[in-house]
Amino acid sequence: MTDRTFTPRVFSGIKPSGGLTLGNYLGAIKRFVGMQGQMQTIYCVVDLHAITVWQDPKALADMTREVAAGYLAAGLDPTQSILFNQSQVAAHAELAWIFNCVARVGWMNRMTQFKDKAGANAEKASLGLYAYPSLMAADILLYHATHVPVGEDQKQHVELTRDIAAKFNHDFKTDFFPMTEPVIEGPAMRIMNLRDGTKKMSKSGESDMERINMTDDADKIAKKLKKAKTDPEPLPETLDGLKDRPEARNLVEIYAALNETTAEAVIAEYAGAGWGRFKPALADLAVAKLAPIADEMGRLMADPAEIDRILGEGAQKAREIAQPVLAEAYDIVGLLRS
Ligand code: ATP
Ligand code: MG
Repeated sequence: MTDRTFTPRVFSGIKPSGGLTLGNYLGAIKRFVGMQGQMQTIYCVVDLHAITVWQDPKALADMTREVAAGYLAAGLDPTQSILFNQSQVAAHAELAWIFNCVARVGWMNRMTQFKDKAGANAEKASLGLYAYPSLMAADILLYHATHVPVGEDQKQHVELTRDIAAKFNHDFKTDFFPMTEPVIEGPAMRIMNLRDGTKKMSKSGESDMERINMTDDADKIAKKLKKAKTDPEPLPETLDGLKDRPEARNLVEIYAALNETTAEAVIAEYAGAGWGRFKPALADLAVAKLAPIADEMGRLMADPAEIDRILGEGAQKAREIAQPVLAEAYDIVGLLRS
């Protein structure tokens, strides 16, 4: 077996399972845009992942467009990156089936996202939610992606993708799939819920007050940050002083990521400041960064046909890369195509 070399290529995705949050922006979209031009970039609205929990069909189509609008408004350029929604490229589901037969049940049982999302009622969760990581591996490996920028919460799934690639390569005595690297770096890899600093901020979370949406206006952002849970202490003199203060750390990290600086620099500037000073400063910063994106999203959403056109064109380009990879995978497995 020779060691195949893979062209550096980025793939990542976001589910249309609700409105985009500040977590999605800082942990994903902003970084996706930053990787454009460095290597080939492929970004997806992963609608097949969204339906692993119930989605209202009409709302799903709108949310798919909204996620696409979020990408575009934040600077994703469809002439530089491939942008499409997953369900338009059937090869994702086809390769996922092969991976369902490669991945082991024991591997899925260790996935913390399933445990978090299924909760106490795991017996009632969809089979799709359980098999989700196998579809995610297919999303990534269908493009032989070498780099996957994700937030901290997705690290385990990218590691599982490597396990699936390694087992496929081993079982079929090939070097067909690459060992993909998760790219998880920067101050905002895990933005926390504003009302509970031990939980991740999520677009599908229960209460709107626990997250900042990319489309929230200035009043909403200020109100949510004012009500964000904190402790009574002022900001510490050093970064060490944020230990065991999850809510305080979260707001400092959000500030750092929005301002493209480090948590240390924020602490240096605001050492000893009370929340009455820090929260309004953070709200102003968040509004300054998000308002122009929200405005552009609104403009794009007013022309859904244009978004659909961009997604359709992206799907065409995605298929051109995906089809030969799927065909070769079928061939390796011995699935006859005549
Ligand atoms: P859901 O609640 O439906 O799972 P979500 O907000 O977790 O939605 P996803 O579509 O699951 O969003 O994830 C899209 C990308 O955003 C992933 O790369 C994920 O790691 C990143 N991401 C999601 N939430 C956060 C967060 N709180 N902090 C940093 N990155 C995040
Ligand atoms: Mg998620």
